[in-house]
Amino acid sequence: MSTITIALSKGRIFDETLPLLEAAGIVPAENPETSRKLIIGTNRDDVRLIIVRATDVPTYVEHGAADLGVAGKDVLLEHGGNNLYQPLDLEIAQCRLMVATRAGFDYTSAVARGARLRVATKYVDSARKHFAAKGVHIDLIKLYGSMELAPLVGLSDVIVDLVSTGGTLKANNLVAVEHILDVSSRLVVNQAAYKLKRGKLAPIFDAFKHAMHHHDH
Ligand code: ADP
Ligand code: MG
Repeated sequence: MSTITIALSKGRIFDETLPLLEAAGIVPAENPETSRKLIIGTNRDDVRLIIVRATDVPTYVEHGAADLGVAGKDVLLEHGGNNLYQPLDLEIAQCRLMVATRAGFDYTSAVARGARLRVATKYVDSARKHFAAKGVHIDLIKLYGSMELAPLVGLSDVIVDLVSTGGTLKANNLVAVEHILDVSSRLVVNQAAYKLKRGKLAPIFDAFKHAMHHHDH
């Protein structure tokens, strides 16, 4: 019996994937938020979940350590998801990749006069492409979290970060000044598994698809 391994990250992506899994008849045996287990069984003998960092999901799937995963477009762009099938935009964990600054910083003037900008972000590839396309020269400062802090303590002029409600920006006296791209989470599939485990995977994809459309219409 071939086993299906699904890579998920804790938090938003796990929570929003749960109803889709349920629609496919897959119910986790434990809650990863409270369990310390990294491999979680399900009601199905042939399906298990692995809990990994959001940025590591494409790596596990690409190498075949997981057959499927759910990853944000932000993560996939930075990873370079070339070796992964991406059959479905699940339309979950929706947010926007944006440029943000301190409330007092005149971004438009800085760009207009050709100022060199210090950009703090975990999304170095997406940021580099965005500013190159605008012809803005930047110094990139790679961070791994809490980007909002950087402009407040003078580490950077701007940040490139994900925004959904804008609550975190507002709480830190920052404003979004430019939209880079819309982000949602996608299903990613290992290429070999896509072919070899098709019989088991196709019904899961179909259930996900139907559960999504059920939401919309
Ligand atoms: P980590 O804390 O490990 O960096 P997060 O749990 O913050 O990861 O984010 C995981 C994924 O969820 C991101 O890659 C992104 O696609 C999505 N995401 C992050 N922040 C938001 C947000 N504010 N609203 C909706 N989706 C988000
Ligand atoms: Mg986070």
